[in-house]
Amino acid sequence: MIRVAVNGYGTIGKRVADAINLQEDMEIVGVTKTKPTFEALEAKRRGYPLYTLPDRVELFNKSGVKVEGTLEELLQKADIVVDCTPSGIGEKYKPLYQKLGIKAIYQGGEPSNVAEASFNALANYAEAIGKRHVRVVSCNTTGLCRTLYPLKQKFGIKNVKAVMIRRASDPANTKTGPINAIEPTLHVPSHHGPDVQTIIPDLNITTMAVKVPTTLMHVHSVIVNLEKPVTAEEVTNLWLETPRVILVESGRGLKSTAQLIEMARDMGRPRSDLWEIVVWRDGIHVEGNTLYYYQGVHQEANVVPENVDAVRAMLGVERNNLRSIAKTDKAMGIIQGGGTG
Ligand code: NAD
Repeated sequence: MIRVAVNGYGTIGKRVADAINLQEDMEIVGVTKTKPTFEALEAKRRGYPLYTLPDRVELFNKSGVKVEGTLEELLQKADIVVDCTPSGIGEKYKPLYQKLGIKAIYQGGEPSNVAEASFNALANYAEAIGKRHVRVVSCNTTGLCRTLYPLKQKFGIKNVKAVMIRRASDPANTKTGPINAIEPTLHVPSHHGPDVQTIIPDLNITTMAVKVPTTLMHVHSVIVNLEKPVTAEEVTNLWLETPRVILVESGRGLKSTAQLIEMARDMGRPRSDLWEIVVWRDGIHVEGNTLYYYQGVHQEANVVPENVDAVRAMLGVERNNLRSIAKTDKAMGIIQGGGTG
């Protein structure tokens, strides 16, 4: 069993812990919290040994939430740590991880140079094999890679122009985000295009981004100039065969992100998570070489299976990306194709 620690049991960390815990070849040896919140209690209830920072042990003890020890003690018990601390904090932990000689996975909020490789399971799994520090790219970058990589492989891509319509904050976050406003990212291109190039270096992509007052999901509006003319049917068939991509139709009552999340609830998904990228089948439009499409990205969920695959790649226990993806997806209940709606 691969022994995995999760540093930062927040939005991403708690989901990664659950996903790891479902795998046959991995176990959670502990998670960290900085405060004795309901999430700390929930981690214990789920059977995850709870750890904290050295200066917080007293706080936990006083509040009656017992911890097993400090982060450093946890790291000594693990083969690998998945760092899910807030943006910019993971980078600060790198010297500690290096000192203890533990492999580390960082999240998309960290700069790409924190790691030896950025990671997407479908597009560049092999680059993470045996590496010590790997960054799973952000939710938006993961979403773009999932649908663009197969297009590039099958048809060739001349260039991509994409606009990210971004949720202002996550549902549980009451501190940030435009409340009654739309906030364009005025620096063009937005950081998403260059971030995709950390995974697919030779992709000619330019992105823009706009934040809107919603918490549920992002929507991407994408225009791809392909190397050759295609039909909407060919593109649809390609994505039907692509792992972690699902196709839905507005005619089934799935016109918006609100309805996609309702679908996830009805599917009994934990925390309403949609780990897959959702492409609207009836939004796929082709004119000659040019493909237009919309996709929905559940920011809290889609990077979670990528973290599981990164563990296998870094420890070298599975060298084939499709086999790792299949294992992860079977354990978590991740689907592909057009069966949902
Ligand atoms: P979060 O704020 O929900 O969770 C962060 C957790 O880390 C919290 O439990 C917090 O208590 C803990 N923490 C804070 N400071 C710490 C410290 N010094 N040491 C240890 N733990 C600490 O954040 P999140 O949304 O889960 O984001 C984590 C990372 O994942 C970021 O890099 C972010 O950019 C990336 N990411 C977030 C999303 C998203 O939509 N939420 C999507 C993809 C990637």
